[in-house]
Amino acid sequence: LLADAPRRRDLLVEHLHLIQDADGHLSAAMLAALAEEMRLPQAEVFEVASFYHHFDVVKEGGQAPPELTVGVCDSLSCALAGADALVGRLEELLGASVRVRRVPCVGRCAQAPVAVVQRHPVAPATAERVAAAVRDGLRECVPANPSDVRQAYRTLRALLAQGRDAATVFAALEEAGLRGLGGAGFPTGRKWRIVAAEPAPRLMVVNADEGEPGTFKDRVLLEQDPHRVLEGMLIGAWATGCTDCYIYLRDEYAGVRAGLARAIDALRADPPLHPLPGIHLRRGAGAYVCGEESALIESLEGRRGVPRLRPPYVAQAGLFGRPTLVNNVETLWWAPEILARGPQWFAGQGRHGRSGLRAFSVSGRVRQPGVKIAPAGITLRELVDEHCGGMAEGHELRAWLPGGASGGLLPASMADLPLDFDTLQPHGCFIGSAAVIVLSRQDDLRAAVRNLVRFFRNESCGQCTPCRSGTARLDELLAQPRWDGALIGELATAMADASICGLGQAAPNPLVCAIRHFPELLEGAR
Ligand code: SF4
Repeated sequence: LLADAPRRRDLLVEHLHLIQDADGHLSAAMLAALAEEMRLPQAEVFEVASFYHHFDVVKEGGQAPPELTVGVCDSLSCALAGADALVGRLEELLGASVRVRRVPCVGRCAQAPVAVVQRHPVAPATAERVAAAVRDGLRECVPANPSDVRQAYRTLRALLAQGRDAATVFAALEEAGLRGLGGAGFPTGRKWRIVAAEPAPRLMVVNADEGEPGTFKDRVLLEQDPHRVLEGMLIGAWATGCTDCYIYLRDEYAGVRAGLARAIDALRADPPLHPLPGIHLRRGAGAYVCGEESALIESLEGRRGVPRLRPPYVAQAGLFGRPTLVNNVETLWWAPEILARGPQWFAGQGRHGRSGLRAFSVSGRVRQPGVKIAPAGITLRELVDEHCGGMAEGHELRAWLPGGASGGLLPASMADLPLDFDTLQPHGCFIGSAAVIVLSRQDDLRAAVRNLVRFFRNESCGQCTPCRSGTARLDELLAQPRWDGALIGELATAMADASICGLGQAAPNPLVCAIRHFPELLEGAR
């Protein structure tokens, strides 16, 4: 299987994928053989393989899983659309030869509920449509069709033709006010400037591992125009002097992977930049925590995706110990347009005193869910009315999530707050990756909150106790008919204060916000 592929440690996750794809699982014998090939201790190969949800490790004497797996997303948007009932129906309909498995958000929330037959998404899914896909042998995702390479890279070519220097690029991004749109919101121009000032060699990482329940914008942007993201990446690499670019794409996006691979081939055939930096397309393996930049870097190095302690920051010592520029897909998607149209164009786009544009992923009880390009600072009410055709038939707004599972939860009475970085903190919430999930008066808020907390419990990497035990304990507390608000508050504070990374720090957010804005939930109201 490996043929003449290099046996480098950083390719361990890639090699595990090769085996999993060929055999449908990772047997003890295969792991031992891989360890020998790669000259790694078996324990290390095992610990990496068993860390990621997408690898099926079968211990010696254990039973291999059925050949076919149907994953049913049970994260919030799909749960609202009936994922539980779908799992039950599929188990009845498909029988024991097919494994039906609940999986976390697969990034298609606008078409909920979603099921995935091996790599073939069925969206929206009904039991009958999934059974038909199984019967018809549909297993693969249709590759995204890359945009035309001849129309791309114009901004980069123009920058080079004009002899622009990197400092003017940093200044333009700073003036535009572009911030990291993966969720952290760090000013992009400043980040590029910081990395450029570090000693060479420097490396670049594109974070395409969006896994926040409710977030699917990066998938849509990469499907629609991969060259635009690649152009943003190349401009970043050129301006900061990065010699290699690593694109870490979540494994769920098989169609994007195929489209991106084609787009990279087309780019290499007619490079706008000489020399073209090394471009490495890498595949995640089903671990939400790898969206955290230092965990992502661990994964790129062929290890478990466990966040690192900081300092040092990845800008100083990131991938392979080198200064590393990490940018989210959407951030890079905006960069070429800002440089082509000027920073004032972007900065002038906001609403309600905010500036810029961004891609909102909207799902839940709206008439037309999807990715909406809208001004930063737009309110939820405006977003739903102007971009989503209003609330879905028969639904009245009750609550909404501004930033996916970790961004918290707000009541309908706050639907006129501007949606942007820093505007929601006073209410205990964060916009994060702008994954807006809309809930109505028909929805069970208790069940919604439990769904979100359980997601974090399943995705905790287990490295630190406040998060590992805290998420489990929160989930248990939520199973009680009456919620112990004082105990939940104490636990939430400990988790926010003492967890190593954002996952554990944000995990109690939806619950804390729910108690704050819907205190009746404590007594058992739904
Ligand atoms: Fe891992 Fe959670 Fe600790 Fe983050 S907070 S390092 S996910 S255990």
